[in-house]
Amino acid sequence: MRVINIKNNRHLQIYLTLAILLLLGCSSLHAKQTYENNSILIANAQKQQKKLIDDHGLSQQPKWLNKCNEMIETLQLDQFVECLVIKATFANAYSLAHGTVVLTDGLLKNINNDHQFAHILAHEHAHLTLKHHQQAQQLVKNPPKFFTKSRIKKFYRQIEQQADQSADQLLTQQQFDPLQIHHYLMRIEQNSQEHSNDHQKLKERIKRNGLPVEKREKFWTNR
Ligand SMILES: [Zn+2]
Repeated sequence: MRVINIKNNRHLQIYLTLAILLLLGCSSLHAKQTYENNSILIANAQKQQKKLIDDHGLSQQPKWLNKCNEMIETLQLDQFVECLVIKATFANAYSLAHGTVVLTDGLLKNINNDHQFAHILAHEHAHLTLKHHQQAQQLVKNPPKFFTKSRIKKFYRQIEQQADQSADQLLTQQQFDPLQIHHYLMRIEQNSQEHSNDHQKLKERIKRNGLPVEKREKFWTNR
């Protein structure tokens, strides 16, 4: 058997050096692209935050902000850097790529207990930890062949499912009830326009059978 002695094999040495340089080159190129993509994501998220505030105005009620910060700490949602509440009557939450979570007044008015609030925050946080913003950005940048409307819908359906599953797990670990959220979702569903896109998305997320009774906690129901 012939054993290759690397020290004495000049060709192999040169080849290995080239391979290492090529690998280093690829990884630094990759790091540069990731860095650039992230800067674009963050710039867009900051624009989106500004637009939400310009369009609706900030709600300054310390009650909501304190509650939000408390829950972020309890659930250790460490990718969130700030919580904002905007004065919008519709119910929605946004997790922005730079770590701000934005909640609407309309959402807070429809919550009846901490379990529901915990689920909403955990769901939004999961979009960050599961890198859904980056995935969506990749899809737009390099769309696969035959990228149809139904495939886009499928992608968004999947990321919502993943965020829900991740929130369910976290709530269970932290002794919250992951089923309470469905009472909230059903309330929101009633208020959303039937046949709209949002209505369809909501419909798919709701579990309707075998739910425990909805808990009503004073903090949330004394409005
Ligand atoms: Zn979501």
